[in-house]
Amino acid sequence: MKKIAIIGSTGSIGTQTLDVVSNHPDQFQVDALAGGSNISLLLEQVKKFNPRIVSVGTAELADEIRPLLPAGTKLYHGQEGLIEVAAGSNADMVVTAVVGSVGLRSTLAAIEAGKQIGLANKETLVTAGHLVMELAAAKGVPILPVDSEHSAVFQCLNGESIREAANITLTASGGSFRDLSRDQLTHVTVEDALKHPNWSMGAKITIDSATMVNKGLEVIEAHWLFGVPYDQIQVLLHPESIVHSYVEFVDGSIIAQLGTPDMRVPIQYALTYPERRPSPGGRLSLAKIGQLHFREMDYARFPCLRLAFECGRIGGTAPTAYNAANEIAVARFLNKEISFLEIESIIEKVLEEHKVVAGPDLEAIEAADAWARVRAGQL
Ligand code: NAD
Ligand code: MG
Repeated sequence: MKKIAIIGSTGSIGTQTLDVVSNHPDQFQVDALAGGSNISLLLEQVKKFNPRIVSVGTAELADEIRPLLPAGTKLYHGQEGLIEVAAGSNADMVVTAVVGSVGLRSTLAAIEAGKQIGLANKETLVTAGHLVMELAAAKGVPILPVDSEHSAVFQCLNGESIREAANITLTASGGSFRDLSRDQLTHVTVEDALKHPNWSMGAKITIDSATMVNKGLEVIEAHWLFGVPYDQIQVLLHPESIVHSYVEFVDGSIIAQLGTPDMRVPIQYALTYPERRPSPGGRLSLAKIGQLHFREMDYARFPCLRLAFECGRIGGTAPTAYNAANEIAVARFLNKEISFLEIESIIEKVLEEHKVVAGPDLEAIEAADAWARVRAGQL
């Protein structure tokens, strides 16, 4: 029995992780769950999976849920609660399924406590990749990717040496507006942006897919996870989301991972690695699909992807500021305070003003994150 803790259990990745657990009740046991504000769903999860430790977003929500929890359940809230669920549980593996750099401290605490990490929360690696990877190496803790592209690359590298990889290609569906010109983006709505053609995901990552920030975050995530320089990371538009990513080796061979777009597959692989288990999702039939399409990424059409490469290469707190500015800009767009294209201009302005700190410690990371949030809120 592998014991699992999930931070962000009520979200898209969190609920799908619990689906995987439900499909293999003989393999996994849930030890701790942290949700945000959806306490009715969290309560359902508690009834079904019986975790020892539960956390909610705020003290008020904790007061609301306390009388409804089974006797003996330990209850926490806020940042301290995320840390308790991640590091204070008996879990062997922590699935990081919160959205945003709010997951940083709890991820570090889980690694410090020697937990394996099933990493969905890419913002954590973008914000402080060097701190996370250094600590994981020091503690001998594996970071198993949940993100579909990174799971694909991880699978392509199974039994291979990263030194023999010439480059890594992350595929991108292009998001909800992939066929619109930049002029046509001026008046797009929140509702349109939330209609992703291939994947059903949380609101923030769906917007990130439309701005291509998501692929930018994934480029930086790949740099840290696989230790590859930015010159060896490429992005390719692939509207069908069937080829989840691939690796080209020095001899010209390409190994790719394919499948239907179903996040339960990469989630389960992180949970069962190095083994595989049956998964109930749809099977891929290449004969039925007939054709797959690929096209060059257009960096003028998707400037946020170019900015991510730039921030990644600069390093230090540049990716921290990029991520934090985007988190605030997306929240403001979802709140209908700003237009879609203003997400890009806010990120760009914040980065212009940001004074990059090289080799930042956790304090410097958090200061840069906080500063970028304030500026992105004002612009
Ligand atoms: P989501 O919005 O559906 O869920 C986020 C979860 O985090 C919810 O449970 C929410 O309650 C919780 N949460 C948010 N802020 C919190 C806080 N301050 N304290 C405690 N809990 C908090 O998001 P998602 O789509 O599941 O994405 C989660 C992460 O996984 C993101 O980093 C995203 O980029 C990544 N990811 C998601 C998908 C996907 O298919 N959804 C695919 C690849 C990667
Ligand atoms: Mg992805």
